[in-house]
Amino acid sequence: MQKSTSNRGIGRRIARLVSIAVATAVIVVAGLLVAYQAQRDATSKRNYVEGTAFVFASAVADHMASRNTPAIRMVLRSVHRVPGVISAAVYDSDGRQLSSLGSDVVLDNSIMNGNQGLIGMITHEVMPVSVNIIKGGEKVGTLILYTDITDLQRAFINNLFMVLAASFIAAVMSVALSLPLQRRIRLPIQKLTQSIQKMRASNSYAVEMTDTIDGETGILLENFNKLISDVRLRDASLQRLAYFDPLTGLSNREHFMHVLEEQKELNAHLSVVVLNIDNVQTIIDAFGHVVGEEVQSEFATILKREISDATLLARFGRNEFALICNDDDVGSISQNFVAKIQAVLFQSINIHDLKLHLSVSAGIVRLPRDTQDTKEAMRFLDLSLSVALAQGTGRCVLFEKRFDEQVQSETEIALGLRKAVANDELRLHFQPQFEFSSNSISGFEALVRWQHPDRGFLSPGSFIPIAEKNGLIPMIGDWVLLESCRQLKCWLNKGEPLRAMSVNVSPAQILQSGFVGKVQAVLTETGVPAELLCLEITESLFLGRSLATVRHVLADLHKLGVSLAIDDFGTGYSSLSYLSSLPFDTIKIDRSFVTDCNKIVRRKEVLRSIVHMARGLGLSIVAEGAETPEELAVLRELAVDEVQGYVIARPLIAADAMTFANGIGKAAA
Ligand code: C2E
Ligand code: MG
Ligand code: MG
Repeated sequence: MQKSTSNRGIGRRIARLVSIAVATAVIVVAGLLVAYQAQRDATSKRNYVEGTAFVFASAVADHMASRNTPAIRMVLRSVHRVPGVISAAVYDSDGRQLSSLGSDVVLDNSIMNGNQGLIGMITHEVMPVSVNIIKGGEKVGTLILYTDITDLQRAFINNLFMVLAASFIAAVMSVALSLPLQRRIRLPIQKLTQSIQKMRASNSYAVEMTDTIDGETGILLENFNKLISDVRLRDASLQRLAYFDPLTGLSNREHFMHVLEEQKELNAHLSVVVLNIDNVQTIIDAFGHVVGEEVQSEFATILKREISDATLLARFGRNEFALICNDDDVGSISQNFVAKIQAVLFQSINIHDLKLHLSVSAGIVRLPRDTQDTKEAMRFLDLSLSVALAQGTGRCVLFEKRFDEQVQSETEIALGLRKAVANDELRLHFQPQFEFSSNSISGFEALVRWQHPDRGFLSPGSFIPIAEKNGLIPMIGDWVLLESCRQLKCWLNKGEPLRAMSVNVSPAQILQSGFVGKVQAVLTETGVPAELLCLEITESLFLGRSLATVRHVLADLHKLGVSLAIDDFGTGYSSLSYLSSLPFDTIKIDRSFVTDCNKIVRRKEVLRSIVHMARGLGLSIVAEGAETPEELAVLRELAVDEVQGYVIARPLIAADAMTFANGIGKAAA
């Protein structure tokens, strides 16, 4: 709307301008000619009448002295014969009229003075022509002849009309003639405007103005085309940046999603594969980022070479690559691709002088078998890869529904856990620890349970790992530490015998800054003697951490007076160096060494060695998970200090735990 109005505006303005210019030019030129012509006609008439007047003036001159008015009148009478002269008058030298002839004329000054110009001619119908009457070389009077000039006026007015008509015709013609000019200016602008509107609407800059036009409009179009081609270039490079990975030239995640969406519609069966280079980080750590990037480039080259049949290859990040391929329902083509890449990578790759071995894990999602939704497919892809990585390196895992169910359930548990402490849903059970030397219960292990509002009673195995993954373990651990110390203090206040309380602490909790202060605060708040508190730590504390980091915290805890136990001993990373260099007091031998120790001779021998080693290091020994009296007998024979297992008691609520502990002495006796 805007466009057409403004373009019509330009046309109108051009037409108006041209017509005014032409009409003005015609009026000025023709007007000057008309004025010139009228002036000429008036002058020749005047000259003609003036000649006649001189004849009459000389005829009346003789009668002036004698003021012979009848004679003067006689002379004037023949004036009638002169064409155009309508009256005549004679004045003496004082300006008094001596005689006149013809119709009465109002002699105003301008007429009296005669010789009025063009204006006078237009405004009066008569032209006075006066001449002096001379006698003996002296002026004796004035003769005025009045001539009818209506013919001149008519001619003048006719000419004027002609001029106006000519200028009108010229203006109309000029407008008509300016139409091509208007078109020349307006059409390209109109096209330009339409092109710009089309580009904006379609968001595509493929249009180009092909008209060849000279002058400014041509320059405008030429520059417009240059501008558009600049925009196209910039678009292309932006698209490259937005859709392609600069390091490998492969598609990036955005482009991958775009193509996946398209391909989903086109193919009956599709697979998406994520390939993870498991050891990129190790290579970067060892040889630096330049080598790391070259490894990724080389991997991209291998992908392009080996699986050229893929619909799309992409790089998602430092160690993640992905592909889309047409597949069958079970995903055998994509699995073959992965196997092919893994086979190629069995050989080392050469980067500079280095021979490097890459290990690749993969996750595969099949569409539509696993999902129809591309976003969900990407989430499933991540899940499959996580499962593959959790199994070790170089694995390829096809997505299974249970991965998602597990994640959903974990997410739900994590959400619930956040509120569990505040909602008072956590409970503590206490498992008695039996001491051989005193034949009594020497302590308890506090074991957390979750009274879930929907799922019922949950054991720690189903939520502690999730709490660890989601950073919730410090919150739960703090609660357990405080509650178990409160319970212990409660028993002490009731006059129960001194028994130790073992509390499990996660690595994430222990390495949290301020943990030592927290333990101190709990001891102070509850009034529990430090030597009755034992913190159980699993060997996973040492995984991937330097001994120095851990030693520092453990030493500080030890300084508080609490004792430290290694939980699940033997199942972890078996780096025995920490046993000798860290301030542990107790080892808790894992259930896997205790079960059937009475039946499996080698197991009993391992137990014997562990006991021997612990003794040598001055550590006390607790055996976990004894379920039968026979196992208990072996443990007694091997001189383990304490036993914790179903054969003694299951984890019990506080009241039952104390009843049991107080009763066992009698039972043992
Ligand atoms: P853990 O510290 O090694 O605790 C011993 C586990 O073995 C307990 O399982 C206990 O019920 C079980 N158990 C004891 N004797 C026997 C037996 O004779 N036979 C069998 N089959 N099992 C026996 P629970 O209570 O399910 O705890 C499992 C794990 O959860 C614990 O292993 C500990 O690592 C973790 N855990 C429990 N409470 C807490 C806590 O408050 N904080 C942290 N961080 N971890 C906790
Ligand atoms: Mg424990
Ligand atoms: Mg244990």
